[in-house]
Amino acid sequence: MTEHYPQAEQFMASTHEVENQPKPLENYNLYLADKALQQAVEREGASWAYSDLIAFGELAGKKESIELGFQANKYQPELRTHDRYGHRIDQVDFHPSYHQLMTTAIEHGLHASPWSDPKPGAHVARAAKYYLHTQVEASHGCPITMTFAAIPALRHQPGLFEEWAPKITARQYDPRNIPHTEKNAVTIGMAMTEKQGGSDVRRNTSRAYPLAKEGSGHAYELVGHKWFVSAPMCDAFLVLAQTRSGLSCFLVPRWRPDGSKNPIQLQQLKQKMGNAANASSETELRGALGWMVGEEGRGVRTIIEMVATTRYDCMIGSSAGMRQATAQAIHHASNREAFGARLSEQPLMQNLLADLALESEAAMTYMMRVARAMDNQDNEHEKLLSRIATPVGKYWICKRTPNHAYEAMEVIGGSGVMENHIMPRLFRESPVNAIWEGSGNVQCLDILRAIEKQPEVLDAYFAELQRAKGADKRLDQFMIKLKEEFSNSKALQYRARTIADSMAVGLQAALLVQHATPEMADAFCAGRLDVNGGFNYGTLPSGLNCAAIVEKASPAVEQ
Ligand SMILES: Cc1cc2nc3c(=O)[nH]c(=O)nc-3n(C[C@H](O)[C@H](O)[C@H](O)COP(=O)(O)OP(=O)(O)OC[C@H]3O[C@@H](n4cnc5c(N)ncnc54)[C@H](O)[C@@H]3O)c2cc1C
Repeated sequence: MTEHYPQAEQFMASTHEVENQPKPLENYNLYLADKALQQAVEREGASWAYSDLIAFGELAGKKESIELGFQANKYQPELRTHDRYGHRIDQVDFHPSYHQLMTTAIEHGLHASPWSDPKPGAHVARAAKYYLHTQVEASHGCPITMTFAAIPALRHQPGLFEEWAPKITARQYDPRNIPHTEKNAVTIGMAMTEKQGGSDVRRNTSRAYPLAKEGSGHAYELVGHKWFVSAPMCDAFLVLAQTRSGLSCFLVPRWRPDGSKNPIQLQQLKQKMGNAANASSETELRGALGWMVGEEGRGVRTIIEMVATTRYDCMIGSSAGMRQATAQAIHHASNREAFGARLSEQPLMQNLLADLALESEAAMTYMMRVARAMDNQDNEHEKLLSRIATPVGKYWICKRTPNHAYEAMEVIGGSGVMENHIMPRLFRESPVNAIWEGSGNVQCLDILRAIEKQPEVLDAYFAELQRAKGADKRLDQFMIKLKEEFSNSKALQYRARTIADSMAVGLQAALLVQHATPEMADAFCAGRLDVNGGFNYGTLPSGLNCAAIVEKASPAVEQ
């Protein structure tokens, strides 16, 4: 007969209670939890969107919405090139969670609201929503952005624009793989990059052959290859190909108007380290029908309208990544103790959290200022400012994100490395925005090109800085030094990153001293303009009110 040990059984059933672990950051209102964003929305002219943004923030913070991001990245897209009978289908299948993310984004106008409902603050309101939804999941932002960005390029071809714009801007997501003629709503991608050159698209070898008449708006067949085509289930793509007059831009649909499949053949999907829920393909064009958009031989000039808009969205996306990482880090440190005290209240952790919050708020403040410039393109200053502030911000904000994600992950400790936490996804996503749509160096060279071509853009930049003159001595000194950089015209290309860094930080500081809390503005000037040896995050100089900065940035979810 076996002896019975009731006490031992009891101990085995219950080894310990889980304590000193934060609850997941979910079921909170992403908008209401972000005081700096609310202030930016009001300041930059979209206070009318307040209730809509609250509702959207509520939706984005729901446990179920957050789960969609995990699901869409776990069950990644799969390519089926042929059906069971050997017909080419070029079909990418996505998990339902991806389709749900796309549906939410499109129904809320993230892909088009400033075009379909233009009014003062339209870009600002849309940027705020995009910023909230990207915090849930970033990959689906790629087709949303490309669809959004296609409109400025398509305006170069009024006939095509009139036919396609109503379907592009419709607030309906229709993922069916059927001809666009049978749909009320479409999405748009782009295909520029080829194996032999991405930044230098002049090396494109894909060719376009006219079917009858040549030139703008006419039909061609495209033959060649594209090394990166993201979101290949889009209904049409803006594609660069060579004609007799040089590189030209074409709108290439998935299906031909006669209902047959356009031969855009997907070879394979890329195995990406980040942006995994979104498919990116290698594609062959085997006589794909397309219509020329804009002037023949001026394809780069046409498609750059799309590219400039996607660069602006990269800024929003990376700012969003930093905001979510900051919120996760502060949430964790505020609900975890070590060595007898709350992590968020210990001096070194406060320094680090405040530094992460600084970077995040500076990025958001900058991108929301550019959103206002986008809203006011009929104002000369705003137009010039957006021309220069877009490459500066795209370069700087996207480049600041990877290390920020890594530091936020470290705040969370071991759990931050686990795949059931959002941090690994934020980290893997973090380098992508810096590389596509013109990598870092390319942005820096674009800054120089813009200044050389139109020196007034630099005047507009300094005029914007001038608005903050006198508010902080360190910033005043910084402006003088930055002007000196431009008086030296030697080796400009070699120094382009140095110049871009200073321009970005200078504009961020100018905006923060005017609009942020005094604690934030002081810390930014001390930590970014007056650098004395702090190389990593968490090396802010003494004498700053880090606790106030952390408190303002806290997502403040009750435990
Ligand atoms: C996830 C993902 C999805 C993508 N989706 C698409 C898509 O849908 N459509 C599309 O068309 N493309 C897409 N791309 C391609 C992307 O736009 C290119 O990778 C990017 O433009 C860089 O081109 P490349 O890879 O050929 O690099 P390269 O052009 O060879 O550049 C390599 C490096 O050299 C630098 N460089 C280039 N010129 C100079 C110079 N003059 N001086 C100094 N440095 C220089 C660049 O900054 C870069 O760091 C995607 C890329 C990624 C990663």
